[in-house]
Amino acid sequence: MEHSVKINSSDLMQMEDKYGAHNYHPLPVVLAKGDGVFVWDVEGKRYYDFLSAYSAVNQGHCHPRIINALKEQSEILTLTSRAFYNDQLGPYEKYVTEYFAYDKVLPINSGVEAVETALKLCRKWAYEKKGVAENQAKIVFASGNFHGRTMAVISASVDPDSRKGFGPYMPGYIIIPYNDLSALEEALQDETVSGFIVEPIQGEAGVVVPDEGYLKNAYDLCKKHNALFIADEVQTGIARTGKLLATCGNCSCTNGCENKPEVKPDILVLGKALSGGVFPVSAVLADDDIMLCIKPGEHGSTFGGNPLACAVAIAALEVVKDEKLAENAERLGTIFRERMQRLVDTTNIVRLVRGKGLLNAIEINDTEDSKTAWNMCLKMRDNGLLAKPTHGNKIRFAPPLVMTEEQIHECCDIIEKSIKEFEV
Ligand code: PLP
Repeated sequence: MEHSVKINSSDLMQMEDKYGAHNYHPLPVVLAKGDGVFVWDVEGKRYYDFLSAYSAVNQGHCHPRIINALKEQSEILTLTSRAFYNDQLGPYEKYVTEYFAYDKVLPINSGVEAVETALKLCRKWAYEKKGVAENQAKIVFASGNFHGRTMAVISASVDPDSRKGFGPYMPGYIIIPYNDLSALEEALQDETVSGFIVEPIQGEAGVVVPDEGYLKNAYDLCKKHNALFIADEVQTGIARTGKLLATCGNCSCTNGCENKPEVKPDILVLGKALSGGVFPVSAVLADDDIMLCIKPGEHGSTFGGNPLACAVAIAALEVVKDEKLAENAERLGTIFRERMQRLVDTTNIVRLVRGKGLLNAIEINDTEDSKTAWNMCLKMRDNGLLAKPTHGNKIRFAPPLVMTEEQIHECCDIIEKSIKEFEV
């Protein structure tokens, strides 16, 4: 006979605490089910998800089209490794390169692996195409960046939590302030500088939006100095910021972005929502002159480009296009920021709201080390909405993009009500 004794939230949290490494500090809520913009905890309470697994679930939880692709492909073929060809990879590569208007894609798994791939590709290009002397290539990073957790990537971090205690660090990096074109121009004077990697909006840093024109000017500076402009759109990409990409512009894709041309990165890094949050699928896109610098045997991953990932990623990208998620994010984002701005104007608790599309954050009128934002998130949880502080006094709001206008208003009501309780 099957036992169906349900373990409660408290026991499940204790279990994680006892048996799992303590490398996270989750909000105390144990989720057991997701559907669209909603998640449910073990006890059956429903919440609006305002994190979307750090923007991986742009298409909403368990989107039926994506789950169907997963189910169907999982019964046929899941993994071959790249030792052999598989019948899903070619069609996916064609689809994704046409979708984002690049010659080639290098498929991989997690976001950070895609960033690592981009960094390796940049170094390889430096030696093969730019003519930098061996082992001399440098890459420029922006302070406040978050590109993931590997050694090569945390070496570029300025966040002590990410970095301290993990040295020695990767050489060949230059870190300049974000949103600072003169610093970039100065760094680019060094001819061994081969690339600049940047998040179009710094998500983890608290949704830091650079000045209008920053990305375009940074791109132009890179071109002037023969360095690659690398966009890490792992968090900002795939409709999150109201465009297909936050750098969107002069690509010839047919995703209906009618925004003014901005830049087409030399290397584009994608992850998270590329699978709709179903499992880790990431990608690096570039044109032939760059991508073909990496040759057989020089880079790879057992799971990269697996048939299951390919089927899932096509479905996830189709959903973004067919359901016009970029347009929805743009429209609802404007409503969200207007509502939050009212909180800024009418209370003394929230200092500012910022963001693009449905990637937004508010800054609480308190110090970075205060507990206020955390306590507000607990209050929102009690009121049926899940969000998480980032860097102490900021709360990021990134719901699935399949939300309706009525729902976003309801969510703003919950946020307002919860936050107002902290008015002094
Ligand atoms: N790059 C950016 C901009 C991110 O926000 C993240 C994760 O939050 C990553 C890279 C790393 O992605 P992953 O956690 O899938 O390795």
